[in-house]
Order: sequence, then C-alpha cells, then structure tokens
Amino acid sequence: MTKNADLYLVCDPWQIIEEGWSKERNLVSESVFSLGNEYMGVRGYAEEGIGKGAETLHGSYFNGIYEEADLNKSYKGIITKTHFMINSVDWLYARITAGDEELDITVCDIENFRRVLDMRTGTLTRSFDWLTKTGPKVHLEFIRFLDMKDARNACQKINCSVSGGDVLLTFVIANNFNTGHGHNKKNYWNMARREWLNDGAAVLGKTERTGQHVFSCFSFKTSKSVQSGKKVADKLAGFEIIIELKDGENAWIEKNIFNYVSKERNGLSDPVWEKGWNMFINGLNSFEKTLESQKIYWSDFWKNADIRIEGDPLNQQGIRFCVFQMQQTYNGYDSSNNIGAKGLTGEAYNGHAFWDTETYCLPFYLFSNPQAARNLLSFRYATLDAARDRARQLDCAGACFPIATINGEEACGLWQHASLQFHPSTAVAYGVWHYVNLFSDYEFLYDEGAEMLIEISRFLASRGSWNNENTGFGFYAVMGLDEFHMMVNHNCYTNFMAKKTFEYTEHTLQKMEKSAPAKYASLCKKLNLTQKERKNFTLCAEKMIILFDDKTKLYEQHESYYKLPRIEISKIPVTDFPLYHNWSYDRIYRTSMIKQPDVLMFLFLYNQDFSRNVKKANYDFYEPNTIHESSLSPSIHSIFAAELGKHDDAFRFFGFATRMDLDNYNRNTTEGLHTTSIAAAWMNIVYGFGGLRSDGEVLTLNPALPRQWKEYEFCILYRGAHIRVNVTAGELTLSTSDEISGFPVRVFGKQYEFTSAGLKICIN
Ligand code: BGC
Repeated sequence: MTKNADLYLVCDPWQIIEEGWSKERNLVSESVFSLGNEYMGVRGYAEEGIGKGAETLHGSYFNGIYEEADLNKSYKGIITKTHFMINSVDWLYARITAGDEELDITVCDIENFRRVLDMRTGTLTRSFDWLTKTGPKVHLEFIRFLDMKDARNACQKINCSVSGGDVLLTFVIANNFNTGHGHNKKNYWNMARREWLNDGAAVLGKTERTGQHVFSCFSFKTSKSVQSGKKVADKLAGFEIIIELKDGENAWIEKNIFNYVSKERNGLSDPVWEKGWNMFINGLNSFEKTLESQKIYWSDFWKNADIRIEGDPLNQQGIRFCVFQMQQTYNGYDSSNNIGAKGLTGEAYNGHAFWDTETYCLPFYLFSNPQAARNLLSFRYATLDAARDRARQLDCAGACFPIATINGEEACGLWQHASLQFHPSTAVAYGVWHYVNLFSDYEFLYDEGAEMLIEISRFLASRGSWNNENTGFGFYAVMGLDEFHMMVNHNCYTNFMAKKTFEYTEHTLQKMEKSAPAKYASLCKKLNLTQKERKNFTLCAEKMIILFDDKTKLYEQHESYYKLPRIEISKIPVTDFPLYHNWSYDRIYRTSMIKQPDVLMFLFLYNQDFSRNVKKANYDFYEPNTIHESSLSPSIHSIFAAELGKHDDAFRFFGFATRMDLDNYNRNTTEGLHTTSIAAAWMNIVYGFGGLRSDGEVLTLNPALPRQWKEYEFCILYRGAHIRVNVTAGELTLSTSDEISGFPVRVFGKQYEFTSAGLKICIN
C-alpha cells in the first residue's frame, strides 16, 4: 500500500500538539483540531482571521443544516436535486489590532505558535507571541470548547498579556453569518433578525433555499475595565472592546455562546427567535461552570472508553484521537442527527451519511452507548418514507435507503452510486439485527425494526430478478462496495447481504407472529403483508445466486470478475494516487483492481458463518488486488490479517487507520477528518487484535498481542457490564466493577462463565 506519513505533530498520550505555524499544513491542522458535540462542529481555525497568506476554511457546521442545489437531470430515477451541509455562523469571530496593526498570523511577526487539543477536557488552545511593529510583545492565548452535555453551548476565552511596552488592543468579537462555503465561497445565509443587550448580542440566520434557522447569541465578560461598544456589520452582531495594557499586565475576554437550530424547512422565524431569545435573556452558562462540567464529562467518558496501549506511543495517541473524535461526532444527543463521512469537520462528502453508519460506526456505540446505537437506527426509521419514495423513483417496491443523505432523501449526485448501490439498505437491516442480537430490544424490533425489514426485503425482491432458467435469484446491473466496478451482475456482497436480509426478516416475522400477535397483525395490515409475500422472501433467499467455488474456497466478487484484465497494483506509481484525481474516470473500471473490501466485507460482517479456510483463501486472493483508495479499507484487512495470524500485515494496516488524519496518509485531511474510518480504527483494536466477534449467540474474544506492544486494554459495555479487556503476551484478563449475574464468553473456542469475579486466561 503506497501511503506515507507526514509526521508533524508532537507525540503525546493525551494531547495533539502542533508546534510552530505552518501555512502549508494549516488546512490539515484545522481538520485535526476540529471540535464537535454531535449538534455542532467547528474546525480548528484561527478565530482572529487569516488573510490571503494561507489557505483556511473557517468551517462551523450544524448537524442537519443544509442547502439544496438543482442537478438538472431529466432521467427517471436519477435525482434532480442534492443537499449539502453548509458553512454556518462563525461564533468564534474575533478581530484584533494593536494600535494600528491588524493581527494576521500569515503576515505579522509571530513566535512560539502552539495549537493543543487536550482530549481529557475537550479544549482547544492556541497561543503565540505577537511581536508588534511598535515594539511590545503581545502574548495571546485562545481557548475554546463545546459543551458535551447541553450541546447548544460553547465557550471561548482570549487571554492576553504584554511585555516590552504598553499597548492599546482593540478586539471585535461577534457571531457572524457572513461566512463562505469552502467549496465555492458562497454565503447561504439571510439574516432574519438581530439584537443587542449591554453585554451580548443575538442574531438569527435563515438558509436561503431550505429556509432552516440557526439562532446564535453570546454574552461576554472581561477582566479589566474597558471601553466597549456595539459592532454592526453585514450579517454580524458583536462588540468592539478596547483594552489598554501596561507593560507586564494581562487581561481576558470570555465569550459564552448559545446556538440553537431549527431543522424545519421553511419554518417561521419568530418562534425560533423567541425560543432562542428567552434562553439568552435567562442567562447563558458561564465559562468556568461549563468548563467544570466539561471536565467531568470527559473524565467519566474515558473511564470506560479509553484504549490503552503499552509500548507504542504513536498508536496510543492515534487511537485516543479516534475514540475522542467518535464521541465528539455522535453520542446519542438527538436521533434526528447522523454521522457524516467527515463528521462535522469539513465539507468533503457534503456532510452526507453513508452505509458507513451501520457497518463501521454502529459497533462503537453498541459496545459503549446503547442509546446512541438505538438513536442511529431510529434515524433510519424516521426517514423510512423518504426511502419508500426513493424505491418508487427506481421503479421498485418497498424502501431503498439512500447511499448518501442528510435528511433521509437521496443526495448523491453520482447516478451510478445513487441508482446502483443497495448496501445502505442491507446495512440498515444488518444494524437492526446487530442491535437486537446484543440487546434483545424486541420493543424496538416490533415497533420500528420489523417495518424497516419488510420494506427493505420488498425493495430487494422487486429490484432483484430471476435468471432465465428460473433457478436462481440475484441482482443485475449493480455496483457493490467496490466502486471500481459498476453495472455488474451478482455482486457477491449485494447478493449475500440480501439473502441475510430476507432470512432475518422472515425470522423476525415468525417470532413476532408468536410473541406479539397483535403488533404482527397490525403491521401486516398497515403494510398489506401477505403469507405469499413472506414465502417469496424465503424463496429469494433460498435461491440466491452466490458465486462460490468449493474447491478454491473463493467467492467471485461478481460474475466474470475473474476474466477481468489483471494489473499489478504495486507497479502503479505513487504519484498516481489518489486514482480518482489522476486516472480518467472510466479507466478505473477496466481491470480487476479493487477499491476496498467487497467479498471480505461480508465475510467480516457475518464472520462466524465462515470457516478459517474460506477467510484465508479470500484474503490471500483479494488483498493483493486492493488499492485501499477508500480509507475504510485498511482496518478491515487488518482485522482479517489478525485473525489469520498474519501479524505483520495486521500491524501495518492498523497504523494507517489509527493515524490516517494525524499523519495525513491520504493527503486529503485538508477536507476534513475521515470520521467513519476513525470508527474502523476502533474496530481494528477491538475486533482485530482483541478478536471480538459479536455476530453469534455468545460473545467471542480471540486476542493477539502485536509483537511491537507490551500490553493493551480496552473496555466494552456488554450485558450491562463494563468489561475491561486486558491483553499481555501470555494472558487475557477480563474484569468488571459492575455487579452482574454472569454470562458465557468464548475464548479460542472454549466457553467460560464471566462473573463479577473476572476471568484470567492463558493465551499462549
Ligand atoms: C467509499 C464508500 C463510503 C464513502 C464514504 C467512499 O470512498 O467507497 O464505501 O461509503 O466513501 O465514506
């Protein structure tokens, strides 16, 4: 795999530290130093503004706040409009002058620049010395954080001190809707209203076309008696604050921010304003109080979420960064939110959520925060009608979940993905199954899950076809996970996952019919579900065409895949990557080269259905054909390699996942973090080295210790117990401080009873 690390951050177990200002790396750092709390996200940009001397994206985003654009397509089934998450209010806005000199780190004389993200407190601190033209040195420190409990709150503090003379500092602090979208610099906001109090201001923005609202206000305090006045500018409400500092003196300004969104499209402005304004005049939380609760939040979180690695400082830092980002991106705050492929850290992928949610992200929540896991599934249930509409557009029945979405509607502008990829639908079914398998939440299954399963199965039954001999069922003209092959027949992943979906739907309905007959009857009535249709689901599953050769143990990725011309991917020059940018689009479709795991992915998701021989044969065959153009790819390969005892491969692939963004492996961290690949990095430890398998009746752990490490430890929440899993060279130790009645776990094929007393197992 041709990827190189750009190791520029200081290695520290709990902090991400950048030392020295680099304009070339600024966009990467802005992504890396992003903060979020599911409700909103903000890139690690310089709040005082950056002039033309460096590229910057002052990105501030809200989950579910988007704009719409026309695609001007006129073929049935091809979407005609798309959605994209837009850059929103800059609530950190600050402009600073010393005398007549304006602060711009790309132009001014700056020393001792540091940007530090502390993962124990969720705070981002930027500091530097500004050698002003008139002589005095001004030390500035900017601290910001987002409230993880009441996600509408955020805080900012600016500390300043001076040495070598007196200085007159002017600060403009504001909440500013005059922000440009990164991609086209366009501003999508109208200002509906703004008002000032003595120590604060509020402004209400409304998106141009979707008519959604963001109410944004702040109050401020300063340490020194100052002169201040209202600052009025286009779409901005703020204050100008003048502070005179004598040599050796210091001062601070604190800003407490409250952002409140209404996702309703074309809603009225007045009710949003009133709700926001009432919150505002009743007083915003103070900086100190919010910081205190923030510290408690993160310290509680880490008690059960930390992954500790002894003997590998770089990966230790990397994996903590991944876990931190997962929690920031999504934590079950509101079920109308989802997880964008870049989280809330940048505009690539337009803020869209993909099948990544159920296959890559869900496991993290299943083993740490069941409510968040359930919320993710409820998001799909709430958007079932949009999926039904999408199925109709594709001339099918049932419900087809979108490949890329913000609000449940298909938003992917590439027709070949939006119209040919069905793995989001089977991923939703998989997510329902995985969640219910772990939590036995039959209320959810019967109230929401079953309806989704039926509608997905209906879609699959109508989109698939019988072969000409009428002996086998399958999918024609599709694109599987591997996006380097489109319009293929019998993509093995698609067919296999559809088979599983049909089977699980029927299994659920049988169970529901017996244990919840009233609910079953009312669901059948609501959906006009007949026994005949159920039988058809079962038949489709039974006759599903799965291209498997018992001799070689290989699954053929799709019909005629073996006939495709081979290229030696190790011979592709490094400068050709990423291929999407350097090869003509059609060229990537002409060979057997694979973008990301396809066959290996279903072998991973239903791991316990397959023998070791099958896994080995397919790993050995497909891995050399895979170029890992998707950041989702290396971790799955690492997990397989760990299971197959290929420890060097496992370790090599693992490093890309944990430090994908810190070391900018794909050279595109500028565009935002690879959030869903970050989720894969968590799986890489827990499912990879830990060998956890959660697709059977009994929780399985087959741990291995990479030879580069002395020890590692992670924690999973399972059957109500926080289980600490510790692995050393010869021993696996499972412990909990929770009172539990005991349950079985399987380690290397042997079953043990896990109780509060814990377990110690020799693993040599
Ligand atoms: C991958 C998809 C994935 C998307 C968002 C693409 O590059 O091929 O599988 O859903 O990125 O992460």
